Amino acid sequence: MDFRLSEDQLMFRKMFADFCTKEIRPQGEHIDQAEEAPVDLLQKAVDQGFWAALVPEAMEGCGLDVYTYMLMLEELARADMSTALILSVHNSLMVKPLIDHGTDDQKERYLAALSFGEMLGAFALTEPAAGSDAAALATTANRDGDDYLLKGTKLWVSNGELAGLFLVVAKAAGGITAFLVEKDTPGLKVGYREKTLGLRGVPCNTLYLDNARVPAANRLGEEGQGFKIAQHALDLSRLGMGALALGGCERALEEAIRFSMEHIQFNVPIAQKQIIQNYIANAKTEVEAIRCLVTYTAWLADSGQDFSHHASITKLFSARAAHEVTDKMLQVHGGYGYMKEYAIERYYRDCRALEIIEGTSQIQQFLIARDLYKAEGLEIRP
Ligand SMILES: Cc1cc2nc3c(=O)[nH]c(=O)nc-3n(C[C@H](O)[C@H](O)[C@H](O)COP(=O)(O)OP(=O)(O)OC[C@H]3O[C@@H](n4cnc5c(N)ncnc54)[C@H](O)[C@@H]3O)c2cc1C
Repeated sequence: MDFRLSEDQLMFRKMFADFCTKEIRPQGEHIDQAEEAPVDLLQKAVDQGFWAALVPEAMEGCGLDVYTYMLMLEELARADMSTALILSVHNSLMVKPLIDHGTDDQKERYLAALSFGEMLGAFALTEPAAGSDAAALATTANRDGDDYLLKGTKLWVSNGELAGLFLVVAKAAGGITAFLVEKDTPGLKVGYREKTLGLRGVPCNTLYLDNARVPAANRLGEEGQGFKIAQHALDLSRLGMGALALGGCERALEEAIRFSMEHIQFNVPIAQKQIIQNYIANAKTEVEAIRCLVTYTAWLADSGQDFSHHASITKLFSARAAHEVTDKMLQVHGGYGYMKEYAIERYYRDCRALEIIEGTSQIQQFLIARDLYKAEGLEIRP
């Protein structure tokens, strides 16, 4: 067993850390307070390969393995959670399914644009009555000659108003099916942008599909394969939420250590108080536990093994830990932690989303239990 990073991984991690620390981190507060997507930063990130992380080198991408991709998400999250989520959705929920399930023609048409900053990806699964019960989706895809007509409403599409290409999941005659839908498709409209508690740099929009005309050539996979395609994408994305939790907790811990060394009460820095030391020690322990889960699950993925079960375990543990760690690190800041000028309150709000997005903690619990009971011959239902 060897936990050391390879030369390449060390090189990539340094490159990610340098860019994130220098370019993204100073913008985090502005991104949150202005509720603005970091459009300029995202364009700069193109040159660093952040949009093409998972695209094979043969297709002019970075060809990162899953673990190195997790290092990228961790560094992004440490600098700014909104930027991290935008690039996670793009890479895990659009680029990866296109690489895995796209035809040569689809890759030819879209991969370069997705890699080089012309098209940001988005993923449209959730609907008003289909959140945790994603299979209950009501958006339809009716065949009309060489096209499909997509009709329905998708909720909370991250990257919505920035996106050039949407992976839309809808019901066709042959079952749930995935489509690549361009933003200028007639009948597609990006609607209302939600006001959110955290991750306020991520535009989260309603997507209206009013008989949006999508060429059959843009169907991703066969009719009926859409749910599986979405699930596979979500496996990677859930592991990625572990990496976001890791970066978020590391930043929260860093903020709390610095604050506790500078802030004086009872004539000493509060770092001298044992309860503060306990908070710090517990947070570090959570950080290292998340890192182990992310590392192990990424190893399963990189070695070609099924990592779905461990992606749920990683997501469940990491999201909960991020909730707990940011809460405690805010407590270390006392009243200052409640004030906008300290990064910890932003991380507290941003990390809270991790227990909801890409499948709630309760749904991860169900999925983990389902696998265990299935191994014993019992089928359980959500
Ligand atoms: C910031 C943000 C960004 C998002 N981005 C996207 C995106 O880009 N694309 C996209 O498609 N979606 C996106 N979503 C939607 C997200 O995936 C859903 O919010 C999530 O899957 C939960 O669905 P829901 O909100 O409808 O909650 P519901 O499914 O209605 O759940 C409500 C509560 O009931 C619980 N619950 C539901 N069913 C069960 C059960 N069987 N057993 C136990 N408890 C249960 C849930 O855990 C939750 O606590 C985003 C959401 C947020 C907050």
